[in-house]
Amino acid sequence: MNDPFYVTTPIYYVNDEPHLGHAYTTILADVLARYARLRGQPTFFLTGTDEHGQKVQDAAQARGISPQAHANEMVLRFQNAWENLHIANDDFIRTTQSRHTRVVTTILQDLWDKGEIYQGSYTGWYCVPDERFWTEKDLVDGNCPDCGRPVEQLEETNYFFRMSAYQEWLISYITQHPDFIRPETRRNEVLGFLRQPLSDLCISRPASRLSWGIPLPFAPDYVTYVWFDALINYVTAAGYLSDQDRFERLWPQVMHLIGKDILITHAVYWPTMLHAIGLPQPKTIFAHGWWVVEGTKMGKSLGNAVRPLDLVEIYGTDAFRYFLMRDMTLGRDADFSEAAISQRYHAELANDLGNLLHRLVNMTQRYCEGQIPAPEALPDATTSDLRTHTEILIGETFARVEALALNEALIAIMEVVGEINKYLEHTAPWKLVKQGETARAATVLYYAAEALRLTSLLLHPVLPEKTAELWERLGWQLPARLADGLHWGGLQPGAKVNSGSPLFPRI
Ligand SMILES: [Zn+2]
Repeated sequence: MNDPFYVTTPIYYVNDEPHLGHAYTTILADVLARYARLRGQPTFFLTGTDEHGQKVQDAAQARGISPQAHANEMVLRFQNAWENLHIANDDFIRTTQSRHTRVVTTILQDLWDKGEIYQGSYTGWYCVPDERFWTEKDLVDGNCPDCGRPVEQLEETNYFFRMSAYQEWLISYITQHPDFIRPETRRNEVLGFLRQPLSDLCISRPASRLSWGIPLPFAPDYVTYVWFDALINYVTAAGYLSDQDRFERLWPQVMHLIGKDILITHAVYWPTMLHAIGLPQPKTIFAHGWWVVEGTKMGKSLGNAVRPLDLVEIYGTDAFRYFLMRDMTLGRDADFSEAAISQRYHAELANDLGNLLHRLVNMTQRYCEGQIPAPEALPDATTSDLRTHTEILIGETFARVEALALNEALIAIMEVVGEINKYLEHTAPWKLVKQGETARAATVLYYAAEALRLTSLLLHPVLPEKTAELWERLGWQLPARLADGLHWGGLQPGAKVNSGSPLFPRI
């Protein structure tokens, strides 16, 4: 399959402090992109920051600096966090970049010319901190349904996108494309939302009230509503209006990863916007669940006892990535606890994987002069089985990743790691050596090491740093074309193994 893999995270609000929710979506996108690269698919992984809007303007004003200067500082918190979490994104878009503002401006003018945007009067309940209008029935006890703070009534002239015109179209599109909104619970949620009449979307804010935004080209005393501006980043970065060939290759393949809290903007606003612009729909919009602590969504302001990103310092980035991928069934909520991380770390990473490497390197040094031995031509049935199971695991892993069953993929990989451990117990190379069966001992060590090399390659997207360390111990280097490593026989007899400190030291 040579279709490109294009994956996006939401662009994060630059004023926010990176928290577990941001980190999880970004690590998930990174893991999917790394699996795509591993199997040789052309890959484009996009993340970035949303930099316009009231909160940035207010924060900048409070600091006495320009909104752009404020955003330039704040964006570093995200960029540093992603570096720290071993995120290998191909692009980082900021909505204040000219490549983006140019595309937004052109799209707005185009929609205005086509009559998709009109001027109207808006009266509504407005939540100042959230920059959102709410209808009467949205309010909860007269307050903002999102943040619970008081709202004010506001009437003003604004510009509207004719979103309501596309309600029937959207319902039939979603119905006819079962993979468009996933998982099914979210798809049903969107279809449920669309049972109510869809209103038009207010896409502007008067510059007198909010100046930090992209001016409407046909009404420069207005700026673009942040959501309308932000969503467009996904087409900007793919080359819309700048590299049409690239855009046409990438765009139909795009997968938007989002948290379930921003489902409606992505699965209702965005598709109708694209439809009005005349662009095809994304391939998939996937909304994952939340990490919860005792039933409460984990965010920055809830004051949950655990500060998840602090655990990176204790357990290391790769183990943190492993836990997040291993413990969430995609689409559902999952429990976050330090005890669970510690358990996965010690049982699976330190014990099963780390000890296996340690024992193999030790025995190779003791029995084979520190070099990967040459196997016999005709191994016994148990040995052949180990090879077969490892080779089958390759195709199964990619199938599970494609089905977004990452936790199942990791369970199956760790089962083969367990099988290698059992194989060593069962064949007991230390006894074979004592009995003078050195050729057989060499075969066992080769097969165990090669099976570990292949399974660790399948763990590479989740544990990029630790697997690289593991291969260095086994005397193997990642080939320039990663997919070339996915065949039995990569370890070369004669390669020197290296001892070192434990891959996952006990904590
Ligand atoms: Zn609010």
